[in-house]
Amino acid sequence: MDLYSPVTALQGIGPARAKQLEKLDIRSIYDLIAYFPRTYEDRTKMVALRDLEVDVPACFEAMVIRAPKTAHIRKGLSITKLTVADNTAKLDLVYFNQPYAADQLKYGETYIFYGMLTGDYAHFQMQNPAFESPDRPGIRTRRIMPVYSLTAGITNALLSKCIRQALDACLAHMPELLPQGVRERYDLCSAQDAYANIHEPKDFTALDRARKRLIFEEFFLFSAGLQLMRNRRTKVCTEPYKRCELAPFYDALPFTLTGAQQRAIGQIAEDFLKGTPMNRLLQGDVGSGKTMVAAAAAYLCVQNGRQAALMAPTEILAEQHHKSLASLFEAFQIPCGLLTGSTTAAEKRRIKEQLADGSLPFVVGTHALLTEDVQFARLDLVIADEQHRFGVAQRATLSQKGSKPHLLVMSATPIPRTLALMVYGDLDVSVLDELPPGRQVIDTFLVGESMRPRINAFIRKHAAAGNQIYVVCPAVEESELDSLKSAEVWAQSLQQIVFPDLRVGLLHGKLKPAEKERIMGQFSQHELDILVATTVIEVGVDVPNATLIVIENADRFGLSQLHQLRGRVGRGKDKSYCVLFSGNKNEQTQARLKALCKTNDGFKIAEEDLALRGPGDFFGSRQHGLPQFKAANLSLDMALLSQAKEAAEQALSDPAYADDPTFPAMQARIGNLFRDESNIFN
Ligand code: ADP
Ligand code: MG
Repeated sequence: MDLYSPVTALQGIGPARAKQLEKLDIRSIYDLIAYFPRTYEDRTKMVALRDLEVDVPACFEAMVIRAPKTAHIRKGLSITKLTVADNTAKLDLVYFNQPYAADQLKYGETYIFYGMLTGDYAHFQMQNPAFESPDRPGIRTRRIMPVYSLTAGITNALLSKCIRQALDACLAHMPELLPQGVRERYDLCSAQDAYANIHEPKDFTALDRARKRLIFEEFFLFSAGLQLMRNRRTKVCTEPYKRCELAPFYDALPFTLTGAQQRAIGQIAEDFLKGTPMNRLLQGDVGSGKTMVAAAAAYLCVQNGRQAALMAPTEILAEQHHKSLASLFEAFQIPCGLLTGSTTAAEKRRIKEQLADGSLPFVVGTHALLTEDVQFARLDLVIADEQHRFGVAQRATLSQKGSKPHLLVMSATPIPRTLALMVYGDLDVSVLDELPPGRQVIDTFLVGESMRPRINAFIRKHAAAGNQIYVVCPAVEESELDSLKSAEVWAQSLQQIVFPDLRVGLLHGKLKPAEKERIMGQFSQHELDILVATTVIEVGVDVPNATLIVIENADRFGLSQLHQLRGRVGRGKDKSYCVLFSGNKNEQTQARLKALCKTNDGFKIAEEDLALRGPGDFFGSRQHGLPQFKAANLSLDMALLSQAKEAAEQALSDPAYADDPTFPAMQARIGNLFRDESNIFN
């Protein structure tokens, strides 16, 4: 048996069990050893019987003073009762459906038990306590018990046993992938100690050390991977652009760009002159004007005789970008194509031909643009909008396209600095920290159900003034079906019962693209007064006439997501409002939502959101481009992250690192971490 043997090499694991383990992504012995406990139960405390407290689990040593008696109450229910005692007290134990307890617990013998006291002074008892002989090393008692995430058919005991076997057979083969020097400098235990103690901690100090080491390792690998990507990129040579006047472009705009926009464009123009592919993140709050920065980049690219592609996460957004950019570029006789799922077959063919022969210099589309068999003659700039929906690996695939194109990714979700390091560690960053002048503050209110009539009147008032309203229903991400129904049902009741005289539309992710487009079209043409929608409208939708957004069950959303949604209004000249409905009276929830009412600053909100919900939830449970960490908790372990990053950068800058005995293992693991990025070392 070695690390890469299938789990069926273990005793007691047949094909059926192996299938169940696969649900936990456990296939090999290695996977088992790298399957960390979700949490731990402290079974180290031994107390006297007299000192047991109700509802506080503990271990105690006691003798059976009344032999177990099993009664079969009815089919499928047996109760075994016995009494134990130490020299401080006695206690009744009860086992439900565990007749083997009666066989094993012998009158007059002493055992170690672990359980939780229930009842009150009238009658204390303990149900189903674990027990074992005091002569044997503790497995169920007197130790820190690992608790694993489970799946149907796999119990904690079974998993522990498998891992025990795996450790016995293969722990010695677990490769070390942190250089000796790094381990010494940061006081980290060995890989083998770490894996042994993460599963079967000797004590809490050992557990802490194991954890620290494994977290450090993950961060080290991740940082090293990003660094290697960066190194590879800067080694690639591309033909630098010729310096090119932006004045004509600026003159064609109906407004003056903000200082922040001009700065970002300047940074991009510099990147183009360098002769290595740009890899830049453009970060800016909703409405900070990222599209114009993208347009300037595309302009420079096309003026240099090459092709640019702008990708949006949804068709609606792609169409919107196309609409505003095509007319702008018309002034320079630069044609701009649109390619999405709903482009007609004939048009698709035409655009693909023109991209392949180079006669179409600029194309806007969905992400499918680069995954489909679209060929470009001279693709040299890829712009990805609302980038948080895809991660490092996807970005890497992107840059494989064409001849190492420049990459500009735009994120509307302000990301806290610490997280940005993780998600965008391989990128240079430009920040739009300034909004175009005259932007209004969107007044935000948090209300409960009792305000419903007043809010309905408010909706009516906006509609009567000729403005439009969004009503957002939560997308419950575990079951899209539910959310779909709720938006549907809500739209129906608004149309039929509350606002029969207004025009209510419904938009959700399950609609066919053409249907979505039709409805979005209706809304932007003001053929609808109210648009009931799921979060499909979250990103970038731009209807300046919309002045009110009402968000149902606001507590279901992340703060940053709510901030994004709120950005759908306040895009025109009219004063705009955001109403958050929440029946959730939880203090923390209320505090979270109130934070949103107090500030319009996306970065502040992002930091707050990160602190309150943790990074896993930061973007909602959608795909967010964050790497999956097994040991690390991004919100708790940030200090280790920067240490690991520093260590990785230092190691990689040392030419001798490649000869270190740990180097191959590190390399192999990074290969796995960035699965789509197997040629990271080229
Ligand atoms: P986001 O950063 O959210 O993508 P957009 O690029 O969609 O923002 O810009 C939001 C709106 O602001 C658009 O209608 C755009 O035309 C307008 N805009 C962009 N830059 C400026 C500016 N410098 N002055 C005035 N309006 C601007
Ligand atoms: Mg945008």
